[in-house]
Amino acid sequence: MSAKETDESESQTHSAGVQNSSDNKPKLSTKRDSSWPSVLFYIHLNILGLYGIVVLFTNTCFTTVIFTSFLTGIGILGVTCGAHRLWAHHSYTASTSLKIVLMLCQTMAGQGSIYDWVKNHRLHHETFRTSNDPYYSEKEFIDAHVFAQIRSLSPHQEEMLKAVDMKDLESDKVVMFQKRFYWILYFVFFVLLPINAPLEYWNDSVQAAIFVAFSLRYLIVLNATWLVNSSHFIWGLDKRYKPSDSNMIFLVTKTNWPQYHYLLPWDYQTGEFGSYGTGCTTGFIRVFAALGLATDLQTMTSDAVKTGLIRAVDTNRPVVECLTEAGREAMQTIPSDHYLTKDKYK
Ligand SMILES: [Zn+2]
Repeated sequence: MSAKETDESESQTHSAGVQNSSDNKPKLSTKRDSSWPSVLFYIHLNILGLYGIVVLFTNTCFTTVIFTSFLTGIGILGVTCGAHRLWAHHSYTASTSLKIVLMLCQTMAGQGSIYDWVKNHRLHHETFRTSNDPYYSEKEFIDAHVFAQIRSLSPHQEEMLKAVDMKDLESDKVVMFQKRFYWILYFVFFVLLPINAPLEYWNDSVQAAIFVAFSLRYLIVLNATWLVNSSHFIWGLDKRYKPSDSNMIFLVTKTNWPQYHYLLPWDYQTGEFGSYGTGCTTGFIRVFAALGLATDLQTMTSDAVKTGLIRAVDTNRPVVECLTEAGREAMQTIPSDHYLTKDKYK
């Protein structure tokens, strides 16, 4: 279904503005309007980024390819390692110097401040598999991956967003510094320096600097990091979203990342792209821990899973509550450097 068709079908059930429910209490509209600046921006970015692929093979020197790959990688790392696992879910604690590095890396992803990213992601977790999820988790991959980015939130979602608890980030100086000076940081680190470097330091073409080092990089980073909110359609176990003859079935049967992550989001080993314990971001967090820059890595042992499940059966309490409780208790008993002997505590 196209964005327009979806808009029309939704507008039949939800009038714009404020509605009245049966008990005369004002009820905010759940209709999401198209954000035309975003639509135009993404059309341009896709055209320029795809042209960047042509320039990449015809008019780009190898140094720019390496440079672009490097910037793409650190942008993705800033979102997965920083915004997602550190700031959204506190799956580990970072030193101030590591926070500053991750903040600059996240700025290189060009998708808004850490504060706003985390706020939206927390609402996504709170409303997962409901119609209030900003990333359409009850619909299709294309809704979550594309339409969510080109529509404004509904008045109802805006109200829910305001209620998201962000006190932890509001007391984080690095996050609030980036929030305050975001557009300056964005322009200098995300736009100016990547375009300037190929021209200034290794005399590459203007086309390579603009269409490869900027447009193509932006397109790749955005799509990779959007997967944090939409990949459950690809790597999930819900068979509604994939044909059984899909080549992805191998990956699907090897992992259950989305289901696990939405149950226990604080485990540092849950990779955003379908892995558990083996992804690049997980590896980087272990390296940061070995260097003393990251501490308190949170994870869930198999024994804690068993304890949590038994407790849920015995007490009739919610499974997630019992798993979280058992996981937190197990963290008190395993050594703080458990990431060095992960096979022993998996
Ligand atoms: Zn998450």
